[in-house]
Amino acid sequence: MDELKEARFWTAGEGGSVRCGVCPHGCVVEEGRRGRCGVRGNVGGRMRSLVWGRAAAVAVDPVEKKPLYHFLPGGRVLSVGTLGCNLSCRFCQNDGLSRASAEEVEALAGERALEPEEVAAAARGRGVPMVAFTYNEPAVWAEWAAETAAACREVGVRSVAVTNGYVAGKAREAFFGAMDAANVDLKAFSEGFYRKQCGARLGPVLETLEWIRRESRCWLEVTTLVIPGLNDSDGELEALSGWVAEKLGAETPLHLSAFYGACEMAGAAPTPVGTLLRARRIAAGAGLKHVYLGNVRVEGGGDTRCAGCGAVLVEREGFGARVRWGEGEGAAAAGRCPVCGRRCGGVWE
Ligand code: SF4
Repeated sequence: MDELKEARFWTAGEGGSVRCGVCPHGCVVEEGRRGRCGVRGNVGGRMRSLVWGRAAAVAVDPVEKKPLYHFLPGGRVLSVGTLGCNLSCRFCQNDGLSRASAEEVEALAGERALEPEEVAAAARGRGVPMVAFTYNEPAVWAEWAAETAAACREVGVRSVAVTNGYVAGKAREAFFGAMDAANVDLKAFSEGFYRKQCGARLGPVLETLEWIRRESRCWLEVTTLVIPGLNDSDGELEALSGWVAEKLGAETPLHLSAFYGACEMAGAAPTPVGTLLRARRIAAGAGLKHVYLGNVRVEGGGDTRCAGCGAVLVEREGFGARVRWGEGEGAAAAGRCPVCGRRCGGVWE
């Protein structure tokens, strides 16, 4: 068994306890115990990351699946996840990883750790241009994600994070500072939803989103899982979309995804297509230029259109993507509308 890595972003507390600074929960963890995420523990008065480098899920996906639609469209991404999460969403779509038992975390901690350079070399060696930290919440293993992203940058591989944005302070800086792109969940636009459905707060997520936009060079996209009866009222969708347009910019891509019953809401009905279409109308009415529908097949629902003239720039079918700006015409053409010449926000090459 590899030794467990000492974590960063913690301070010593009283009586041998440690206080974690990764996320707004700020867990105070006694000797031999773990924080709420289940994967950061106090071992001998020091905080350890129990899942540093321990991959529980690995796959090569299209970047559209993350979803990131304005970041190297059609590109393949080596996706890695571990176990644990700092939120407890009742509707979690990936609870097999995020809600792993203490025994499962223990077993994974006993596995060999993947060094950051190994992941970078694996992606580069296979000609995969990106690595994603995804499947479970990567902020709870922010150290390994940030170190791996740095190793990837060394060899010309980009890094992307799929995250709930519930991360604070130095951990937030280190984590998003290392990433080239992120898709951050904005699960709803009410404190009540975050408190009751996720065991968290909305405010810190909004802070993270603004911080990324203002302080980092990380390309940002936002996802909202639209859940019937919980976050799909006209008023809430208007408030959410208006906030994104005002604080993050009207060209920030917003992904409105269909919910399917899972986790504690396994028996709940899925999101009707009509609800997603209404949500898209509201988001567009709030001024957002790039609103996408996910987890559902709606013709044109995943196409990227020019914010100026409406021409299709990237056509999507399922997770496949075809760009419309003459491929092979070089950097000047990438992301530029072939009809009106307007450049679309994103990272296209
Ligand atoms: S990352 Fe985990 S241990 Fe740290 S504060 Fe958040 S829930 Fe607690």
